[in-house]
Amino acid sequence: MTRPIAYITNPLVRHSAERDPEAIANAVANPWTAMVVLAGDLPILQTGEPGTSLLPATILGRLPDHQEQIFLGTLNDRPVVATLAAPEAAELFQDDPVLTAVDLRSIAVRGLVPEEELGMLAMAKSLLDWHRRHRFCANCGTPTQAAQAGFRRDCANCSAQHFPRTDPVVIMLVTRGDRCLMGRQPRFPEKMYSCLAGFLEPGETIEDAVRRETFEEAGIRVGAVRYRASQPWPFPSNVMIGCIGEALTDDIAFDGEELEDARWFTKDDVRRMLEGSHEEFLAPAPIAIANHLIREWVKE
Ligand SMILES: [Zn+2]
Repeated sequence: MTRPIAYITNPLVRHSAERDPEAIANAVANPWTAMVVLAGDLPILQTGEPGTSLLPATILGRLPDHQEQIFLGTLNDRPVVATLAAPEAAELFQDDPVLTAVDLRSIAVRGLVPEEELGMLAMAKSLLDWHRRHRFCANCGTPTQAAQAGFRRDCANCSAQHFPRTDPVVIMLVTRGDRCLMGRQPRFPEKMYSCLAGFLEPGETIEDAVRRETFEEAGIRVGAVRYRASQPWPFPSNVMIGCIGEALTDDIAFDGEELEDARWFTKDDVRRMLEGSHEEFLAPAPIAIANHLIREWVKE
């Protein structure tokens, strides 16, 4: 069975209109509330088959202190609060028979929690990470305070309001008839090739970002661009915008800095890469939207 793209399933009801000053305190006081805890950027899980990231609120008593809390919303009417603990708190669970600290990528790859919890964990990780790295006002430098149940930070000095950011990345499978273009970065696992990708820049459409990045990285001109799917990517807070682009040219050129190789692959190559039976090349991991884009394309 093919697992869905990681982090895209999030059945949480966000209740964004109810992010009042009491929302976190009320939820924490409710014994039914589920607590999602991150020690630094490591979620704490209750182990099992599968495990869960929804912990009883009593977990707070085991943390030496915590730094930020967010009212995430409700899951099947159960309030969910995310809590940020210091990175060292992960050590508290080293020898615990029931609880463990695991990075969010491994949680997705190894299927350690139900699919439905992955989107919520991505949300919690991106938000808590934003709090951790945005403690001061970008306008005047004064320390800021969390507001809106954790979805905003306010500056008491200049009244600026700061909102959590999501940075868009275009990721595209560029095709030319029966072939598609993929490249490999030096940091990729051995033999792995994947879709090209890059940050969307200010003042740029998604379509133009696909065309610009493809030309910059591989020297290929792209015409029509179709949006296919998106994926939250909480490392730390991106949204991957998956597109198919039609190549207008054939000759690949790359500078060797960003990509160490780029080439055209046939549908037969890609099928065998997805199966893991290709002798030379590997497909991107199933948790990634790149895998989904190429899997859909070979079916066309
Ligand atoms: Zn300020």
